[in-house]
Amino acid sequence: MTDIPLTDFLYYLQALIFPERCPYCNNLIEPKEIACESCLNRLEERQRPLTGGALGFRCLSSFHYKGSVRRAIVNLKFFERTQYIPQMAVILAADIKQVYGEGAFDLITAVPMYKTDRIKRGYNQSELIAKAVGKLLNLPYLETLEKIKKTKKQHTLKYAKRKHNLDGAFQVINNKEIHQKRILIVDDIVTSGFTLGKCCRIINRARPKTLCCATLAAARNYYD
Ligand SMILES: [Zn+2]
Repeated sequence: MTDIPLTDFLYYLQALIFPERCPYCNNLIEPKEIACESCLNRLEERQRPLTGGALGFRCLSSFHYKGSVRRAIVNLKFFERTQYIPQMAVILAADIKQVYGEGAFDLITAVPMYKTDRIKRGYNQSELIAKAVGKLLNLPYLETLEKIKKTKKQHTLKYAKRKHNLDGAFQVINNKEIHQKRILIVDDIVTSGFTLGKCCRIINRARPKTLCCATLAAARNYYD
């Protein structure tokens, strides 16, 4: 016992009380692991990152929104399993570095939720993902946008209606803070690209230097 540094000892003690679980299958995993071995192998086998655009802004996603990734995101979004976020963020942060390059951004931000929606859920999962990625990439998190209009859920609408559902929904909080900045905006999933795309268009009015998107997952066929 005396050979174990105190910080490690405390870490393992914490792991005993709050054991870490694999975000993708919920099995117990070793402390500091980001997934169990079989899930990690399966995730590594997949071709990633996925890259493309959202209304003309560059976008990348780590995974397709299906199978165990879909389950993990549903859990963190609707069942308060936010403890999975730092583990999932490791993969997204690596993909961001690979696609956009090291030190490509000045700040990281997230797609905002409408105030009452956020209170109801208790957190904005996209903000938590952005903060976790920011920590790994050494990027300060900044709230750049606010959602000023309650909108229907994008996935409940037909394609044609999705386009205009978000009109007037977002506004920039402080133009000066994002002017000439290199910005990365994060969401949990990209489905049609309208949400991220609209957010980018609004941010773009404040003339950032560059603006790119990143999400944990993308709807099937999004990048095809
Ligand atoms: Zn697993």
